Amino acid sequence: MQAKEKEKSLKPRGEKMGRYLEAKCKLCRRADMKLFLKGTRCVTEKCSYAKRPKPPGAAMPSRKKLTNYALQLREKQKLKRMYGMLENQFKRFFVVANKSKGVTGRNLIQMLERRLDNVVYRSLFASSREQARQIVRHGFVFISGKRVSIPSYIVRDGENIEVKAKSNLGQYIKDNIETHTKDRSCPTWMKVDNSSYKIDIIRAPEKEDLVIAIDEQLVIELYSK
Ligand code: SF4
Repeated sequence: MQAKEKEKSLKPRGEKMGRYLEAKCKLCRRADMKLFLKGTRCVTEKCSYAKRPKPPGAAMPSRKKLTNYALQLREKQKLKRMYGMLENQFKRFFVVANKSKGVTGRNLIQMLERRLDNVVYRSLFASSREQARQIVRHGFVFISGKRVSIPSYIVRDGENIEVKAKSNLGQYIKDNIETHTKDRSCPTWMKVDNSSYKIDIIRAPEKEDLVIAIDEQLVIELYSK
């Protein structure tokens, strides 16, 4: 397959003008697992995947055995969609992870987990990664005293992150912490101060810290072709 055609085939339906426009719950049903894309709704009985754990559009589940390529593609889509990334940006992350020292899969997971929007989400200050992205984009997040409004910024060890919650945002964050303490916990690679909305990164995130099971090796095989 020509390189251009191959790249085109990797681009999923629904991605247009740098945004994913289709219903998010379909992505969970396609991945056959909860990707937690809609905040509080994901942990209630309203969750579409809990109600209909079947691929979208299929009346009957397919009996066809998935090819190796399909398995690799699915694993990549799962990871990419969970972090709310589009194809080009995800591929850039892979290229950097591949060029960095150490094991590529471990580097990739660490980079994804260290994304600033993910850090805000994992601290329980936001109910979804999308909401965390809004908080970052609107300029409420400061790193070591400097405003950073780039959701894909990679946070390094020892950096102090602070969400300056002016006006309604403080109440919003308090509500999120209260609601989500019941369904998820902060990962141990960060230390969170819920009263001052400060986060310290104390160690590198690892695969075991992820909420869902991922076989990152399949993603590496896909991009290494
Ligand atoms: Fe996925 Fe959340 Fe929708 Fe459930 S509610 S299908 S977990 S996005």
